Amino acid sequence: MTASDAHPGGGDLLVRGARAFVRTGEVDAGGELDVLVENGRIVAVGSGLDAGGAPVLDANGRTVIPGLIDVHVHFRDPGLAHKEGWETGSAGALHGGVTSVVEVQNNPPLSVSLEALESRIEHVRARSRVDFGCLANLLPDSVPELDAMAKKTPALKLFLGGSTGLGGQTDRGTLRDLFAAAARSGRMVVAHCEDELMLRADKLKYPNATANEHHLVRSTEAEVSSIRLAIELCEETGAELHVFHISTKAGVGLVREARARGLGIGSSTAPHYVLLSCDDAPRLGNLLRVNPSVKTREDADGILAGLADGTVEAIGTDHAPHPLEDKQREYRHAPSGMPSVDLLWQLTYELVRTGRLDAETALASVTSRAAESLRIPGKGRIEVGFDGDLALFDPSETRRVIGAELPSRSKWSAYEGMELAGFPTSVVRRGVVAFEHGACTGEAGGAPLLLTPPTPH
Ligand SMILES: [Zn+2]
Repeated sequence: MTASDAHPGGGDLLVRGARAFVRTGEVDAGGELDVLVENGRIVAVGSGLDAGGAPVLDANGRTVIPGLIDVHVHFRDPGLAHKEGWETGSAGALHGGVTSVVEVQNNPPLSVSLEALESRIEHVRARSRVDFGCLANLLPDSVPELDAMAKKTPALKLFLGGSTGLGGQTDRGTLRDLFAAAARSGRMVVAHCEDELMLRADKLKYPNATANEHHLVRSTEAEVSSIRLAIELCEETGAELHVFHISTKAGVGLVREARARGLGIGSSTAPHYVLLSCDDAPRLGNLLRVNPSVKTREDADGILAGLADGTVEAIGTDHAPHPLEDKQREYRHAPSGMPSVDLLWQLTYELVRTGRLDAETALASVTSRAAESLRIPGKGRIEVGFDGDLALFDPSETRRVIGAELPSRSKWSAYEGMELAGFPTSVVRRGVVAFEHGACTGEAGGAPLLLTPPTPH
């Protein structure tokens, strides 16, 4: 470990008089909860703690949860910063209770060399208000540098199906080589699983498609076939796999079955795959156009069952911002993707409020399980030794979503007008209040996430 990889420190703070969101071994949900942070790390959790000179944040009975880890965002900076950028993207993250993001670069400059990855990390460090991990791109071009990049990235991003400016890989031999190289580097493959050739064929099959047919143009079969292939490649090469933004019940079934066989395979989903369905397309039009497509209600139920049993480990937003005028083009010219990092906790909490997911699973899906799914240490728990990342909210307070008022750049939301709860009133990152009363506080300046060492095999 080099000096720059060491824990970046942070502030001292006592959060006093909060309530826990779920009952855990050491915390009684009914009692008052204090959390003491020193130099950015939690040093005590209990009640009646002494501040010992640290500043005090009085929770006044608000609920405290760990700062969220969004395992999948696109902030498009550098390259397409007019669509987002780290200043606005990370401000949006704090609004959603998110204190760490894992960023996927799908526009040039791609992270295909150590130099590109390091320069990206430095670019982000100066601009982000949250901690961050930058994924390296797994492409034939990046293979010679994978071992070097493995020390600087949580995982390697592979597109089996193309999306937003990046084509998918179609050749099985090439894919096998990429999985083998990932296994040698000791980092897991995080994959966008859609079968590129099926996508191309389906596009020809529906030449006059509208947003209402997007789930047919990017079909269930395309995702399922691609996940099946990715699992096969893991078996052949020993690579580990995390399927990003899983959107189908059948895909969840394949991951569940592979995990039962002892394979190192995990997955995550996004809020739109469990809160919305293709039935919302006539109402939302291109605003619902995302890749993979949003499927049926039955698929949403299958994904929720996967979250409940741990097959789907995490909920990440796949925050994929575009200006509203781009989304208002006719279907075939409109880009795919929606913003939602601003609402990650609010949308996750909605699953609890509507009885679709139990509180413990919902919280873990955006905190502890999210961190563990990509082996990010020190994040996602209110426990001694973990980073002092916290979000406070009043569970009884609800607000209507107004896209124009969200901090990220797009200023529109597929959840416009929806009444949600869980709006964070204060967000603390490594012991420093970073967001309060609806606005960011203090200076920008993020820290790269600590990484577990790669395990080559
Ligand atoms: Zn994505």
